[in-house]
Amino acid sequence: MEPFTYERASTPELASGSLESALARMGNERTVQGRWPAEYLAGGTTLIDLMKLEVMRPRHLVDLGELRETHGSIKVGVDGLKIGALATMAQTAEHPDIARNYPVIAQSLVLAASAQLRNMATLGGNVLQRTRCNYFRDVSWQACNKRNPGSGCAALEGVNRLHAVLGGSQDCIATYPGDFAQALTALDATIEVLGPNGTRTMAFVDVHRMPGTTPNIETNLAPGEVITVFNVPAGPWTRRSLYLKIRDRQSYEFALASAAVALDMADGVVRGARIALGGVATVPWRARESEAMLAGKSLDEQGAKAAARAAFADAKAREHNAYKIALGQETLVRALLQAATMEA
Ligand code: SF4
Repeated sequence: MEPFTYERASTPELASGSLESALARMGNERTVQGRWPAEYLAGGTTLIDLMKLEVMRPRHLVDLGELRETHGSIKVGVDGLKIGALATMAQTAEHPDIARNYPVIAQSLVLAASAQLRNMATLGGNVLQRTRCNYFRDVSWQACNKRNPGSGCAALEGVNRLHAVLGGSQDCIATYPGDFAQALTALDATIEVLGPNGTRTMAFVDVHRMPGTTPNIETNLAPGEVITVFNVPAGPWTRRSLYLKIRDRQSYEFALASAAVALDMADGVVRGARIALGGVATVPWRARESEAMLAGKSLDEQGAKAAARAAFADAKAREHNAYKIALGQETLVRALLQAATMEA
């Protein structure tokens, strides 16, 4: 791990100000990894890992740990959930209202990581976790546009079994690794962000960027901005929701394919479907074509299969990951049929 300076922030405003002034001191230049040279530290379960691997080499850290008391609470209201970005995964997954009324959220968090990690990791850090592409995480590989812009992509012609079939580009096909983000995407969540220019709200679905020609730039957050709150609107679909995750082994593994599904149904007919896919795409993937196909119809196996095919109509397979198209479709079919049997 390379040396870095460290400070603790006692308010989000001070945190944002500290990061901004650190960036200004360093000339706002991006590091060779394409990231900013100063980073926020929350639970540390991704950042410290990547710093040890020297994949990320920030020169300054602003620790948000002291803000957990004030920015880690969960409020449940008639309008929905308001969850502080420093709430832990465990705290959120175990919240009785979330487990009962927003099961897709609780399930996505429980299935995401071990109990130890869930106790440490914050929601803000969780949604910003970085890809598990082995070429990205192993600095002995030169060709990785995400880590080293302009160097190429070793995965395109390499071992790409775990890589994305949706949303990739000629410069990067890395899979977005998280689970919770799919639940937020399906539920139309928004986030509150604090930065040098004040606060703003953005749709969660707009946070992550597809790689395009700049895979090193992964989000639409500006330098110095920090997520402070996740807002999840209430609706007749949240109770009939679930997260299905398929992986190489049953515990503590990243998704090969996953589906977050929330259904609003009446008399067996889908009034509205909300679907986000994971494990198969470069960003949390909202499957709007599938949603449109399901709306206004009874949900049976044939309809679910047609909707799943629509989700993967533009999928592009590489040498080792073509199986993800069939697996992703089957995962969505199972998730839809299972959700349709739930009580609302
Ligand atoms: Fe790097 Fe993306 Fe290629 Fe992986 S897929 S080697 S992260 S550029």
